[in-house]
Parts: sequence; structure tokens; C-alpha cells
Amino acid sequence: MKDAIVATLRQNRDLSDDELRELIGTDRHDAALIRAADEVRREHYGDAVYLRGLIEITSYCKNNCLYCGLRAGNRRAERYRLSREEILACCEEGYALGYRTFVLQGGEDPAFTDDLICELVAQIKRAHPDCAVTLSLGEKPRESYERYFTAGADRYLLRHETADPAHYAKLHPAEMRFENRRRCLYDLKEIGYQVGAGFMVGSPYQTTDHLIADLRFLQELQPDMIGIGPYLTHRDTPFHDKENGSLALSLRMLAILRLMFPYALLPSTTALGTVDPAGRELGLKAGGNVVMPNLSPVGVRKKYAIYDNKICTGEESAQCRDCLERRVRSAGYRIVTDRGDVKRTRGRG
Ligand code: SF4
Repeated sequence: MKDAIVATLRQNRDLSDDELRELIGTDRHDAALIRAADEVRREHYGDAVYLRGLIEITSYCKNNCLYCGLRAGNRRAERYRLSREEILACCEEGYALGYRTFVLQGGEDPAFTDDLICELVAQIKRAHPDCAVTLSLGEKPRESYERYFTAGADRYLLRHETADPAHYAKLHPAEMRFENRRRCLYDLKEIGYQVGAGFMVGSPYQTTDHLIADLRFLQELQPDMIGIGPYLTHRDTPFHDKENGSLALSLRMLAILRLMFPYALLPSTTALGTVDPAGRELGLKAGGNVVMPNLSPVGVRKKYAIYDNKICTGEESAQCRDCLERRVRSAGYRIVTDRGDVKRTRGRG
């Protein structure tokens, strides 16, 4: 039988707050929702799944987000920084494995100066002109974002985490403000980046209305990429006794995002694979069309511990690539060697 609320979301790419409350708050619509999300993803992207080679360049961070194992206040965290040569070697290896996007991700580490980041981006683009470079290095002044863009960076990922300022304040120290996060995202968009935002599902103190606020914020921002995943606890943070987010709610939100933003690049995240062994396959079936295998040197992977029990920390890059290929195929999709740029449709979206 047709599910009216799912059909409305698919048709209008929108619902009222009351309808969203119903959809998010129960599992009654999940089967229809996930089926519709898969159909819409196939209409826009077929069975293609895009690869992003993730290089975790530094585990130092000056910030103190309460949920994150890399927070400056975590004295037990093991810290490392990759050298320029190591980063370029990761790209070299990734290119040979078929990656055409490299994501440089790290904490907000002052040792990675704007000059250094610009040089890195320019070197990668010179070595691999057919590849996209994505940065995920946190909040910066607009001028820094402009410099990275001029140096050749194509995309920037900055999860907004929660669009409710009061909830944001419960997850972050006083010096971090939702308003600044928002300013960063709009600066990035105006400069011309393909922009990725996103949020945690099941973070401490989160309510259904917070999730609705996240969707409304994304509708306003219209990002190209949206990264979500279950909140996962880290033992050495102030949230060490909080519950992990759930797989079911994460998949539900992913499917809602696919129907609201049919054009979007939606990763099936490592966090999904951590909360459930089949999580990433289920994420693809719920509308995800991106996977981000790790290209960091194996020796540092365990040190990039943003949450406990993170998967894929022991395998070589080539093994990660093969494992992901098998998983994607078993879920009914196909990895493509392509930059994987966003496919915007005319009109809405
Ligand atoms: S979430 Fe990012 S900014 Fe916050 S402490 Fe962790 S690495 Fe630093």
C-alpha cells in the first residue's frame, strides 16, 4: 500500500513540521521511505557510488568539542601530523587505486598554516589535475577559505552538527558558536566551493525538533554534500557515559535527506559501519551514494580516534579499496572512477 507521507515528501521534496515529526518519530514508514530513497537515488545517480580518498592529516586540535576524542582537553589522545611528503604519497597511492577525489581532513591545528595548506593543495592539483581536492579543516576566516580556493581546492566539508543554537551550546565549549559555523558555511558557498554540511544523529540532548531544525537549515543552505552518521561515544570525553546514536534513526534520516535533496552527494559513513557491521551497505540502500575509504598511513589511523571502536584502522589502503568494492557490489551498486561532482537538477534543488 502506498505510504501517503512518503509519497508527499518524494513529490514535494518537503513536508510540514508535523509530518516530519511523524516520519522521524516512528519506524512505521521506514520500509516505504527507504524504498523511495533508493528509487530517487537511481533516478539521479543510477547505481554509481563515488569514492573519496580520506587522508587524516593531523590529530592535533585546538578546540574542545565535548563529543570528540581529538578535543584539546583529551590528554590521552595520541597526536600526529603527516608531513607534506606523506600526504603526497597517500595521494599517489590513492590515484593508482582509482581515487579521483582526495579529502584532507584534520583537527583545527595551527601548525597547518594557510601557506602550508595552499602549497599542499597546489601540489596535489599539479600532480593530479584530473582530481578534486576537498578540505575538511574546520572553521577559518573567510580570507583563508579564499586563499585555499585560489590555490585549487574544489570542495569543503564542515558539518554544522546541529542547527539549534541552544543544542549547539550543549555540545561545544562557550567560545564556539553556531553563528560562526553558519558564517563559515555561507562564506564557503559564496566563494564558490562545493559545500558539505551535516549533523550527528542521536547526539546527547538531541530531540526530534532539533533534527527538523537541521533539515530546515539544510533547505536554506542547499549544500552539495550532506554527511550524517550516528553519534558515537568516546571514552575520554565529557560525554563518555552517553548512548550511541541508533542505526535505524540514522538510516531514516539518510532516506529523508535523499528525498528532500535528490541531487545531493550523501556519504554512507564509517560511523554507520562502526555502529553495525552492515551499516555502510544499509546506508547505500537508504540513499547514500558516496563512500570514503581511508588513505591515511596505517601507522596513524588508530590515533585519529574521534570516537571509540572506529573501523578500518588496520587495513592497508588497497585492502580498504577492495573491501569497499565488495561491499558496494553486494549492496547492488557500482563504484565508479570519477571525480563525482554534484549533479544539480533544474528548478527545485
Ligand atoms: S570535532 Fe573537530 S573541531 Fe571539534 S575537537 Fe574534534 S577535531 Fe577538533
